Order: sequence, then C-alpha cells, then structure tokens
Amino acid sequence: KLYNMVQDLKGNIRVFCRVRPIFNSEMKGVIDYIGKDGSLFVLDPSKPQKDARKTFQFNQVFAPTATQDDVFRETQPLIRSVMDGYNVCIFAYGQTGSGKTYTMSGPPGRSATEMGINYLALNDLFLICDKRKDMITYEICVQMVEIYNEQVRDLLAENSSCTKYPFMLKLLIFWFVYLYNDLPSVVILDYISTLDIRTCSSEDGGLSLPDATMHSVNSTMDVLRLMEAGEVNRAVSSTSMNNRSSRSHSIFMVHVRGKDTSGGTIRSCLHLVDLAGSERVDKSEVTGDRLKEAQYINKSLSCLGDVIYALAQKNSHIPYRNSKLTLLLQDALGGQAKTLMFAHLSPEEDSFGETVSTLKFAQRVS
Ligand code: ADP
Ligand code: MG
Repeated sequence: KLYNMVQDLKGNIRVFCRVRPIFNSEMKGVIDYIGKDGSLFVLDPSKPQKDARKTFQFNQVFAPTATQDDVFRETQPLIRSVMDGYNVCIFAYGQTGSGKTYTMSGPPGRSATEMGINYLALNDLFLICDKRKDMITYEICVQMVEIYNEQVRDLLAENSSCTKYPFMLKLLIFWFVYLYNDLPSVVILDYISTLDIRTCSSEDGGLSLPDATMHSVNSTMDVLRLMEAGEVNRAVSSTSMNNRSSRSHSIFMVHVRGKDTSGGTIRSCLHLVDLAGSERVDKSEVTGDRLKEAQYINKSLSCLGDVIYALAQKNSHIPYRNSKLTLLLQDALGGQAKTLMFAHLSPEEDSFGETVSTLKFAQRVS
C-alpha cells in the first residue's frame, strides 16, 4: 500500500542510468561524477576544463561497480507491482556495447551472481506466487519475440515459421527458394515467419500478439530454458545477417493471471525489452540493407521516446501507431502502467557523442 502511494507521487515513468566499466585501460573516461542522488556529470573531452561539464539528473545512477544485485534491488518493487495487477515495462536503451544485454539477461555464459533482470524478476515473481498461494492462485506465461526491420518474429516457436500461412503455401515458397537459390532466402523465410500485431478483446486475454507461442512457466528452470532457446533463435538469424541481434529489439513478455479465493481476478503483464543499439550510423557510409536497418531503428526508438514523452506530459493523443514496437506495447504503456527506462552508457572518451545523445534521450522522457 505504502509502496503504491510512493509510486503515485513519483509518477509512472522513471529513468535509471547505468555506466559500464571501462575495458580499454588506454582510454580516458568522460563520466566525471556519479551521485547517490541520481546526478551524473559528463566531461566534454574537446572543451577546456571550465566549460566541459554537463550535468544530468535521473531517478537513479549506477556506477560501474554496481552489481546485478544492486540494480535488481532498486527494480524489485516495480516488478513486484505486476503481482498486484499493474502493467510494467522495462526498457534497456543505449548504444551497442553499452551493457543493455548485460542488464537484462547477463553476460554470455553467466554465473549465478551475473543473472540479469529477466531471470531475477521471474525468480521473484515465483517467490511471491508461493508466498501468497493460500490467498491467490497465479498463472504465469511467457512469450518472446524480436522486432527486426519493423517485422515481428516469434523467438520461441518450435520451427520458426508460424501458423499465419497454410502449410501448402509454405511448401511452395520453400520450393521456390530451393529452385532459385540466388533469391535472398533469408528475406523470404523472415517474411513468412512474421507475426501480426492484433488487439484481442479482454475475454481473449487482451493479447497483442495472439500468434506468438505462449509458454506456461512454473519455475526459474523453465524460464532459463526458454530464455536460452530464444537467445539461440536470435543468434541463428544473426549469422545470416551480420550481428543482427544488436539491430533488433528483443521483447520478453510475461503474462500474469491471478485468482483469489473469493473469485476475483487480476491480469497484468511485465514487458522486458532489450532495445536495438541506439548509435547513429553515418549516412554517407552505409547503403542498402544496412541503411534500411538504421532507418527502422532510428524511427522506432524515436517513436518510443515520443510515446513515453507524451505519456509523461499526460497528452490526450499518444502516438502508438507510428512503430511496431509502440503498437505492440500500446496496452502495456498507457493508463496505470509503470515504465522504467535504463539508459546505458559506455564511459570511454570515443563514445562521448553517443553518451550525450543517450543522456539527452533519457532526460527527455524522465
Ligand atoms: P549491448 O547489449 O548494449 O550491446 P552488452 O551487454 O553486450 O552490450 O555489453 C558489452 C560487453 O560489456 C559485454 O562483454 C558485457 O559482458 C560487458 N559489460 C556490460 N556491462 C557490464 C557491467 N556492468 N559490468 C561488467 N561487464 C559489463
Ligand atoms: Mg545486446
């Protein structure tokens, strides 16, 4: 109760900033100061000392020394409110290499102490299920999708082609690809496995992606297994398109349903989103597919910024329809929903431009 009051006072949108460690010890850092009150100072390496300092203020700032556990502890109350019927969205924003996947999933080959928010969140939700089991029966289901070039793809489908097209049509397309194997088969296979975003009525569960496979989970082992399968699926497509995973949004959707002893029900969802890298590519250097990718990413990230900004301003029109990402999250972002954006920073001098652009993006939505 008290927690909810505190939330409402603060509003429903908050921004945390996390600075990863410097890996290249040759390189100078540009983050000058990180305050416990959420303030952060950045030094512009091209300016003389007295003009160089830029100040930013967030709800929280995590220094490079912060552990996964430190970060989770600050996120936990928000995540727990899902069990009381609130929709919660957590986004990881930042340039490629700034630590988005580290925060959400953990590093590759992670140990128990390196698990990211996705895993720790589900672990916590199961603990609550168990604690409240005499009063409320919960059911937790997950979906996992990626959005790449404004197309949504199921990362947990058994064979990554979906049910939208009849079997014979798929066979025909495969045959076509086989005969004319100079055709960009990846593009075609991508196309037939694309999912539609639809809005189901609330009796049907109010799902926005009814065609993505839904997996019921009862333990953290189930979750780990699914997350790993999803990561493998994401990696498979990245071999055919050079490092695609940094150019797609990955969305882990957790649907919670609870039924209490008097027959009352709650329904809510937690969305955990590892966004595509926010770096601007030099338009004079890229062409073709790479340019298209970059344009799609810029568009969807700026749409996300616009939607969160409009929500924070309590505008009457929220521009959800301008990108697949915001359309997919439409129900999860409005109303009573709580939103947390992690702005990730690479502290090295050569990332200064991207660091400032990430900070400005984050400042605008906070
Ligand atoms: P992104 O997903 O934004 O591209 P990653 O999460 O893959 O970035 O991080 C890039 C590299 O930095 C990885 O090797 C990751 O393990 C490491 N890394 C990121 N954040 C941290 C951190 N807070 N502490 C230690 N290592 C980190
Ligand atoms: Mg990543």
